[in-house]
Amino acid sequence: MVIAGSRSGAWWVTEMSYQLQSLLKTLPVSLCPVRNHRSFLAQFKTRVWIDRIEMEENGLFGSSEVVVADPQLLAEKIVAIRTAGPAKLQVIADFDATLTRYWVNGRRGTSSHGLLRQGNPEYDMKRRDLFYHYHPLEFSPTIPIEEKTKLMEEWWGKTHALLIEGGLTYDAIKKSVADSTIAFREGVAELFELLEERDIPILIFSAGLADIIEEVLRQKLLKSFRNVKIVSNRMVFDENGCLVSFKGKTIHTLNKNELALEMAAPLHEQLGDVDGPTYDNASVKTRTNVLLLGDHLGDLGMSDGLNYETRISVGFLNDNVENSLDTYRNAFDIVYLNDAPMSGVVQLVSQLWSNDGV
Ligand SMILES: [Mg+2]
Repeated sequence: MVIAGSRSGAWWVTEMSYQLQSLLKTLPVSLCPVRNHRSFLAQFKTRVWIDRIEMEENGLFGSSEVVVADPQLLAEKIVAIRTAGPAKLQVIADFDATLTRYWVNGRRGTSSHGLLRQGNPEYDMKRRDLFYHYHPLEFSPTIPIEEKTKLMEEWWGKTHALLIEGGLTYDAIKKSVADSTIAFREGVAELFELLEERDIPILIFSAGLADIIEEVLRQKLLKSFRNVKIVSNRMVFDENGCLVSFKGKTIHTLNKNELALEMAAPLHEQLGDVDGPTYDNASVKTRTNVLLLGDHLGDLGMSDGLNYETRISVGFLNDNVENSLDTYRNAFDIVYLNDAPMSGVVQLVSQLWSNDGV
């Protein structure tokens, strides 16, 4: 039984179940918001006292790459997911600035949407003009959400129309990706491999373009994963590789989460490459545990409607750390700071079922 409380900003855990103690031994170094994980575990083996005030006074939060506001809650969630087993877990991830790096070689990495050069400067300029017009509206605090949603539909609709009108080809997408400054966080391929080995599906939600994201995966990871599915705007090309239309409902930044409700279930039925083996999805509907990865507070909504039992949320706070840290650490179970690599998540997943029986 675990009893936790606060006293003058301190954490007390008076008793630990054997299971929880065992699991905590497997927590990756980077999950522990204390000086180092050995001291963290040494404390947890008997009586845990983590003085958060002392840590803050020592600047440990400021210098750390990871913050966990509630280690006990996180540990309990890990126990729940571990106990339920890999067959109960699915991963839901945002793409831009979550799987990809925020900074690339000292420059802001491009987004999957922003990297596109359709081989027609006039149309690239027209899409850029739309960006300058609508982007401030997207973040305006005074526009009601309903109105803003209409504006986003308008923006996406016009952008998609320009891509068709400007004669976008699949070759232009390939070239754009090859020329772009977009890069995955270190450890993303390893994470995908680990999840694939354990037959755990990954749904990548994006308001960008699925075809571009898939090309980025192909070019930058040099491998396809049968357990990865992109939930994003999908293009239709003709036999000459020219864009002719878009499939289905437009996914923009303000309905990306809402669409999770209606899109997650059917997608679970068709995981896997179109031409490759179909992912074994017989039990996917029963995957009631979620590991969610995002870089915006709004990304937390990606799991809405999935009726999950346990969710571990991981937030990447890439920039403006000082002003946003409090909000992020209250919203996400784990917060990685300053464009951190994916290695902490890799450790978490690799250690979830590192030995049987616990
Ligand atoms: Mg993002």
